[in-house]
Amino acid sequence: MREEKQNPTAFVACPILVTFLAAAGYQARAERDRPGGQFPGWPVPRYPFPVMRTHLLVAALLLAVPAFAQQSSKMTPEQTEVWKPVPEIVRPGATDADPPSDAIVLFGGKNEDAWVSAQTHQPARWFVHDGILTVNKRDGNIETKERFEDYQLHLEFKIPSDITGSGQARGNSGVFLASTGPGDDGYELQVLDSYKNTTYVNGQAGSIYKQSPPLVNPARKPGQWQTYNVVWTAPRFNPDGSLKSPAYVTVFFNGVLVQNHFQLNGQTVNIGKPFYKAYDRAPIKLQAHPDPSQPISFRNIWVRPLD
Ligand code: MG
Repeated sequence: MREEKQNPTAFVACPILVTFLAAAGYQARAERDRPGGQFPGWPVPRYPFPVMRTHLLVAALLLAVPAFAQQSSKMTPEQTEVWKPVPEIVRPGATDADPPSDAIVLFGGKNEDAWVSAQTHQPARWFVHDGILTVNKRDGNIETKERFEDYQLHLEFKIPSDITGSGQARGNSGVFLASTGPGDDGYELQVLDSYKNTTYVNGQAGSIYKQSPPLVNPARKPGQWQTYNVVWTAPRFNPDGSLKSPAYVTVFFNGVLVQNHFQLNGQTVNIGKPFYKAYDRAPIKLQAHPDPSQPISFRNIWVRPLD
């Protein structure tokens, strides 16, 4: 930190100077107006004292401005220290992938109690085994029972090592950051096998589907676990349903930034243009994509609400 030295003359010079100027002006005016004053030969003084005062004023400004500038640069470190409110203590996980103490665990390896069918709102019936959650394509999308606004989300997914298919029909799934209805209504962060699998770039893994391609492609080979870490800022709506503020998303894919505070144009759609549709709080949804490739798996899903 830079050391700031105090200069007391800066604090003293200005009041003295101002007092001096006031006195000089007062005296000059009195002298000017006094019959038989000190300058008897001068015309009734319209000239010398106003000029003198002007000169004094200029001098004062020339002295005072640096003094004030010097004064502002002489702030102490303590003047910009903030001590309250003290941030709440959160105990981090054993690793950065593990849920911190204030996280809501949405899938911890044992059950899918936090999830329901997005279509029927009945208990989810994906496959829980070996601490992981595998998509049940016959049961459709699942979504959280709890609804969220802004949050930090962590999840991990794995494309099966024996994955088949190509393009969008190869390990397709998705994380709907806000589910606004059954089916694929909402805001989808795409999940796909994007390791040497060519498709439209705004539909590959790490994309905001058909709105924003990932900045880079850090996809791992099928058979390896991959991570998404997401910061989601939900859109806000006015009472009449019009958009008040758009949604933003930041995504790290396998620790690499792929979406940098991207401003969404609305819900992600497969056909047509994105649009905003008013909602309040929304579940997070996982996609059971109907393509014939082998189902993918998830694990270690947790969320930290930020609102
Ligand atoms: Mg998808």
